[in-house]
Amino acid sequence: MLTKKAVLGALAVLALATGATALGTRTAVAQAAAGETVSVVATTGMIADAARVVGGDRVAVEALMGPGVDPHGYRQTRSDITRMARADLVLFHGLDLEAQLADLLADLGRRQPVVSVAENLPRDRLVAHDDYADKFDPHVWMDPDLWAEVVIAVRDALVAVDPEGTAAYGANAERYLEELDALARYAREVLSTVPEEQRVLLTSHDAFNYFGRAYGFEVVGIQGISTESEAGLSRVRTLVDLLVERDVRAVFVETSVSDRNVRALAEGAAAAGHDVRVGGELFSDAMGDEGTWEGTYVGMIDHNATTVARALGGEAPAGGMSGRLGED
Ligand SMILES: [Zn+2]
Repeated sequence: MLTKKAVLGALAVLALATGATALGTRTAVAQAAAGETVSVVATTGMIADAARVVGGDRVAVEALMGPGVDPHGYRQTRSDITRMARADLVLFHGLDLEAQLADLLADLGRRQPVVSVAENLPRDRLVAHDDYADKFDPHVWMDPDLWAEVVIAVRDALVAVDPEGTAAYGANAERYLEELDALARYAREVLSTVPEEQRVLLTSHDAFNYFGRAYGFEVVGIQGISTESEAGLSRVRTLVDLLVERDVRAVFVETSVSDRNVRALAEGAAAAGHDVRVGGELFSDAMGDEGTWEGTYVGMIDHNATTVARALGGEAPAGGMSGRLGED
């Protein structure tokens, strides 16, 4: 892990080496005018995906966090700092998702364009944090209607560093928003086929509150909103009782969190005479492998909605909304 002093030192060296200063925005504008691509570094894969779709061929986008990486505990590497300091635009989520990157992002933000894509979402559309009265649940990508607002923030951030691309970014965003609308309609449709008493979504950590609110599911995470905490034994016992009482048939593991707690829970339920299976793997805080359908935001949400519907007694096509699930 890099100390704060080391981070600041590395930044100072880079500022000299790359000429990254408060002029970062003007540099990007000049580059775009010269027909060069705008370099964007995004923290999560979901944000990078939005920037790629909206940016089209005007941008070159890199994500710091790949498939299976947990953003709550992610700490920057030296090469991350280099990549961010050299970028024309850094996009991060905000709402305390990248808790360990906060100091670095604040320092970078004094030198170059660094934009949070979720921090300015309307407060009345956010879910309150379980543990802190003044904080919000950051997992907004779980509701495509809310993620649409993030896509608009990505578009606006691109326009700010590359005004000449305004028309292109606007057209790309508009097309993508229609796709997100179709995704939301598909998710609503298949999830509404799950019998009402079965609408309990039990996963490793509290990533699915926005999903629950959008589609009428009771959402239970073994761990809290962050993945840092350990689930206690009494918590596991309470949850086993819930599974038995509600006759919940499936629980879910997440690709970016250890499956230990979920498997312990399924065993606990079995010991109590209630059969519950692991209903599949959901993409919570990271997308699937690059080059696969699940490695896109739309594919990730398609996979989740389809998997949940099928495991909890609802109906959904095995291949998902576009027939592309699991084909890669
Ligand atoms: Zn999370």
